[in-house]
Amino acid sequence: EVDVPEDHPRYESLLTRHRIEDGVAKGITSQQGLIAQGRGEAFDYLLGEETTPSADEAERVAAAHLLLAEHAVLSVNGNVAALCPGELVELADVVGADLEVNLFNRTEERMRAIVEHLEAHGATDVKGLAADARIPGLSHERAKVDADGIYDADVVLVPLEDGDRAEALSAMGKTNVVVDLNPMSRSPQTAAVPVIDNVVRAIPNVTRHARDLADATDDELRDIVDAFDAEAALADAEARIRDGGDGSID
Ligand code: ATP
Ligand code: MG
Repeated sequence: EVDVPEDHPRYESLLTRHRIEDGVAKGITSQQGLIAQGRGEAFDYLLGEETTPSADEAERVAAAHLLLAEHAVLSVNGNVAALCPGELVELADVVGADLEVNLFNRTEERMRAIVEHLEAHGATDVKGLAADARIPGLSHERAKVDADGIYDADVVLVPLEDGDRAEALSAMGKTNVVVDLNPMSRSPQTAAVPVIDNVVRAIPNVTRHARDLADATDDELRDIVDAFDAEAALADAEARIRDGGDGSID
């Protein structure tokens, strides 16, 4: 455990950074994960380190998609495993989704370390180790998925996914929910639902919305999904970054 003074003005941000450092030390997070974290922090800073109203809306839409899904899968990489393992397990429980470890730089050692880490946080039946199916259009290592996991899913939540793979998953006809702090990155731009927020805030907020929508009918959930405008969500995040606001006078 780390010693960050709780009264530090950027307490949350420092805590998050330490979780990633810890992830690297434990063999869960890759060294490239540190760089991804740095990029994320920069965008989070520009977004005000808070969930914007439009991100909150996207998180509600994400919850509706997960609840409507025949088979939802939450994809887990080394960064999110280090940042919010318990929160991912909880979301999977609430919406009835599978968890699948899916790495950009796949090593069997890191795969196993992440599966064990998720199990230590209460997960059962974590997918990803079988790797008995392939995403079409990607190179061998990056194409590996489980036949009864991501390959079979109709809705996939991919936090911090690489642009190519996000695109390949969409090309397979899957509904892609991408959590990424950079609205200009290709990954959220190819997503059905771009969630421009820190995964640390986004995942528990999707869970909160899913609980809130637990009694909604499929028609009500479909109305929420249909009303969503992905382009507008991206544009709103970009306006915030550029203007320090949502474009309105405040
Ligand atoms: P591409 O254009 O192919 O998507 P990229 O420029 O996004 O590539 P990556 O290495 O995939 O390159 O970047 C990591 C992404 O993850 C960045 O967009 C960064 O903002 C995002 N990110 C990092 N940490 C977090 C976090 N905690 N929550 C949400 N997003 C994050
Ligand atoms: Mg990206």
